[in-house]
Amino acid sequence: MLELDHVTAWYGRTQALFDVSLSLRAGRCLALVGTNGAGKTTTIRAVLGLIPTAGSIRIEGESSERLATAKRVRRHGIAAVHEGRGLLKRLSVFENIVVGLPRNAYDRLDEALELFPALKSRLTEPVTLLSGGQQQMVALARAVVERPKLLLLDEPSLGLAPGIVDEIYGHLSKLRASGLTMLLVEQNIARARDFADELCLIQTGRSAFTVRADNEAAVSGLMELAFSQNETAHQPLA
Ligand code: ATP
Repeated sequence: MLELDHVTAWYGRTQALFDVSLSLRAGRCLALVGTNGAGKTTTIRAVLGLIPTAGSIRIEGESSERLATAKRVRRHGIAAVHEGRGLLKRLSVFENIVVGLPRNAYDRLDEALELFPALKSRLTEPVTLLSGGQQQMVALARAVVERPKLLLLDEPSLGLAPGIVDEIYGHLSKLRASGLTMLLVEQNIARARDFADELCLIQTGRSAFTVRADNEAAVSGLMELAFSQNETAHQPLA
């Protein structure tokens, strides 16, 4: 579904990615883990074509480096939930979910509300009145109405209390069960291990290595390496 090979990326003259390679098969979830500033968000931006890159980015087997973001997203059915959720603060919950959606596709709202029933009674409220967890649900609902094949998720648990994070990951599990392919950025390695199929450690703009989430020894090694670089990257194992 998605393959990055020796990808480099820049913000103006500042190089943020030096060598990122990863592979994500359809229906699977790959979690990018690593310290603050390692390049996880930048990797998502590179996949979306939001910043200049070099190296190979293949989506559904097709070279995508030259495709503009809008075309990339449309052609390959990509939806993204960005860090900070990217909601439009002046709009209602309903407007946030359907923004950009053609009117004849509004019935997809029902599908999204099946997944996030807590939003049903809040549709007409300003999105800012919702709790952080509910706002994250709005951001996810907005992605779901796109009926994506590939979902890019940047730190869905950021700033949320542990109980709410459990709830959000419960919703994400339902999305996974539907066969959606996911590229997830998650600072909490234990959480990433419990949710994803594979973990890819990003360090100083490089993909250090990828391990299967069910390989305990490999995940421990990855944690040690991440931990040795920055203690904040590590959360205690449950
Ligand atoms: P975090 O968890 O803190 O978001 P991250 O792993 O997602 O960390 P990135 O946000 O991808 O890290 O940042 C990678 C590098 O790129 C960092 O050195 C960061 O300072 C730099 N960077 C990020 N955004 C910009 C920007 N808009 N302009 C210049 N440099 C940037």
